[in-house]
Amino acid sequence: MTYVVYTGVMNIIENTSLGEYSTMRLGGAARYLVEIHTRQELKEAYAWATENQLPFIMIGGGSNIIWQDSGFEGLVMVNRIHGYEDYVESPESHFVTVGAGEIWDTVVARSVATGLTGIEALSLIPGTAGATPVQNVGAYGQEIAQTISSIEVFDTQTGQLTNVPTEACGFGYRSSKFQTEYRGRFYITAITLHLTVGNPYPPFYKTVEQYLAENPPGGPVTPRVIRDAVIAIRQSKLPDPAEVANTGSFFANPIINADTLAELRMKYPDAPHWLVDNGGAKIPAAWLIEQAGFKDYHDEETGMGTWPAQPLVLINEHAKSTKDLLAFKAKIVAAVEAKFGITLVQEPELLPKAQ
Ligand SMILES: Cc1cc2nc3c(=O)[nH]c(=O)nc-3n(C[C@H](O)[C@H](O)[C@H](O)COP(=O)(O)OP(=O)(O)OC[C@H]3O[C@@H](n4cnc5c(N)ncnc54)[C@H](O)[C@@H]3O)c2cc1C
Repeated sequence: MTYVVYTGVMNIIENTSLGEYSTMRLGGAARYLVEIHTRQELKEAYAWATENQLPFIMIGGGSNIIWQDSGFEGLVMVNRIHGYEDYVESPESHFVTVGAGEIWDTVVARSVATGLTGIEALSLIPGTAGATPVQNVGAYGQEIAQTISSIEVFDTQTGQLTNVPTEACGFGYRSSKFQTEYRGRFYITAITLHLTVGNPYPPFYKTVEQYLAENPPGGPVTPRVIRDAVIAIRQSKLPDPAEVANTGSFFANPIINADTLAELRMKYPDAPHWLVDNGGAKIPAAWLIEQAGFKDYHDEETGMGTWPAQPLVLINEHAKSTKDLLAFKAKIVAAVEAKFGITLVQEPELLPKAQ
């Protein structure tokens, strides 16, 4: 049973299932939960949590998180702050400021519709705009760090809104300081993107180039052409979280050192890999999972499976709990370890984090 425990400018509700707040649709209950629509509501919710000495966390669309079965003994703030403002600096240069709770793909669609380039390859990534800097989302040759120019945050140390410039975000491959030292201090309320008018420059990401060769656009490669190509590619490979419970790629691509790479290539001369700086290589986790016997796999015991077109995506078919998901994950990790001596690491965050 869900009760409203606080009514100010917003409603805080008690004891609500967190399964609805993760696209994997698993996990326990939140002691308290509130949907935040304005900066003022955020300040008020934060004050309430602090007054009641409760831990708190902010989430967006829940497409990169998995809730523990034990739930969250604090206040979950779901960011629903909207807004889209296009500041035209010059005929070529626009600064687009977007509320953190905007659905990311609608932001991409809108910018593409006005002829702007910079984020079109990030089409159809689930979730909210405010979460994009957290793991520096990226796909098909673009990442958000390339276009983000500043981030408006609520600073819990001062209780004020402030701006974090791009240089201070510590962006790396699928990482930023919002996952580490800024976690729990800054809550993102808006992001500003620097986008330009015109067409994107080739060369494009290999898969996109291939798609365009097979489906010639019949004119210049505009941001819309890239968006349409990326959408078609993604839809052919990935499940729609609205229909199939999943959190996208479940494991990061492991990086192995030069010795392990040499051993791997002795046994598997065709092992796909991308060389990295130190002589080691990044190995596609999807290939390791497939080779370990989990392609299009459906596990009756746990109710979990792998997506037929992409084994890196774990799907919740009829799992009852996060425990089931973690048991399935353990099976895959153990099988890959036994076959290759490589340990896969989970990508979506398990929340709340162990203290
Ligand atoms: C089918 C599928 C495909 C995907 N493809 C890609 C891909 O191609 N590339 C990619 O990079 N990712 C991909 N993802 C992962 C996911 O979509 C992104 O990480 C996305 O940015 C998460 O957004 P969200 O709003 O759902 O964040 P959530 O899952 O709600 O939260 C993620 C993290 O961000 C924090 N957070 C969220 N909002 C805020 C805020 N306003 N302030 C502070 N912290 C916040 C949360 O606390 C949590 O730590 C995919 C996921 C799925 C399900």
